[in-house]
Amino acid sequence: MREVRIRDTMSGELRSLDPGREVGIYACGPTVYSRVHIGNARPFVIFSLLARFLKSEGYETRLAINVTDINDKIYAAAAEAGVGSATLAAEMTAAYFEDTGRLGLGRPDAEPLASETIDAIVELIATLVEDGHAYESGGDVYFSVRSFDGYGKLSHRPTEEMEQGEDDSGSLKRDRLDFALWKGRKEGEDSSWDSPWGPGRPGWHIECSAMAEAELGELPFAIHGGGSDLVFPHHENEIAQSEAARGRPLAKIWMHNGMIETDAAKMSKSEGNIFQLSEALDRFGPEAVVSYLISGHYRQPLAFGAEQLNEAVARVDRLRNFLRSRDDTGQDLERADRSGTGADGAGTGLAATSVAAGALSEFRDALADDFNTPRAMSIAFDLVRRANQEEVPGAGAALAEMLELVGLGSLAAAGDDDGPPAEALELLGQREAARAERDFARADRIRDRLDELGWEVRDSADGASLVPRPGR
Ligand SMILES: [Zn+2]
Repeated sequence: MREVRIRDTMSGELRSLDPGREVGIYACGPTVYSRVHIGNARPFVIFSLLARFLKSEGYETRLAINVTDINDKIYAAAAEAGVGSATLAAEMTAAYFEDTGRLGLGRPDAEPLASETIDAIVELIATLVEDGHAYESGGDVYFSVRSFDGYGKLSHRPTEEMEQGEDDSGSLKRDRLDFALWKGRKEGEDSSWDSPWGPGRPGWHIECSAMAEAELGELPFAIHGGGSDLVFPHHENEIAQSEAARGRPLAKIWMHNGMIETDAAKMSKSEGNIFQLSEALDRFGPEAVVSYLISGHYRQPLAFGAEQLNEAVARVDRLRNFLRSRDDTGQDLERADRSGTGADGAGTGLAATSVAAGALSEFRDALADDFNTPRAMSIAFDLVRRANQEEVPGAGAALAEMLELVGLGSLAAAGDDDGPPAEALELLGQREAARAERDFARADRIRDRLDELGWEVRDSADGASLVPRPGR
């Protein structure tokens, strides 16, 4: 079991996970008022893969990603579409399950819905009112921010810059810093729930505080995650509510992913609506979408467009081609190890196999070091490059295991098969070897031979891959 460290937003420091305790992870999921987009897919992918990696290292792990199905945005979108808000939320929740399901990463351990957590939410609000951290006002309930000493410790913002972003028209707040825990039913809102303060609905922040506790148990749990746009006010308010009510920290580590950045000029009609997850999956396939989402460090912003997704397609093709060219892909690394030793005689095979095993170990080290997926993937591509140039026993097995860890295990599956035949893959390997030796005349002859076979060579920063030649 490796020591796994994650950068904590609150302290700015790297924090180690406790190997002796269950790693509870809560990540904020989407507000379901429309089909989810790539920006929603990023935390889903990052936290799903983090949980997968921790489990593979032997950490007992429980991942909860919620669905916010009660929210202002849902009432507004439902009214505009002329459907009931509960109907719209249910439809979009089902679409979210379907779209994220197509990523091929399985489901989180728990996916609570706000609408199914109302009792726990009401109880938590009642505790805050009893303890003097919240007050009822005209059917609404507000959290009294100045009653909680630690307010601002996550976002480190000066009080005068704190805007709750709530619609304060007709609000009965005592202090502009306060935020809503419960909102009394308003004209035009077609669904509401009963509470000690009358019919209404919970505020967004208290929903997450209650769902996290309901799924992960006694506070603090190990990691609270979400997009960096949620640091303030959403996560700051979750901390205030949960800590004021329980007298204990909410989470030990706050882990935030950067935003997906679109270039408005480039997101023209020609690119279609690929920012919507289902559309991106249709056009580029799940492996390319996952590969794109792990191509940058999770904490950094990530540029988005057809160009980035096409690059991901090329990377994925290259990995798939390589795995199909190997006869050790389906083996486990130890068996590949033995066969390598046998084939090459004692000593040389073992030494060469340790290259593959060493790469796999470095790959895991990169993930253990603040979940550095781009570094991990560059280790994977280095292994591919090396194995295309020299004998590396176990390279297929090691790569298959790496890709399984980052949700790309399907690339190692035997083809259906419209992929390149063994002969073409063999030639591609020979061409790479020729290029590595700077024998470009030979490399060009091999390219021509591949063209005759119906395969076009595509070179990218990560190496070459084969795609069917147009008009083949
Ligand atoms: Zn949340």
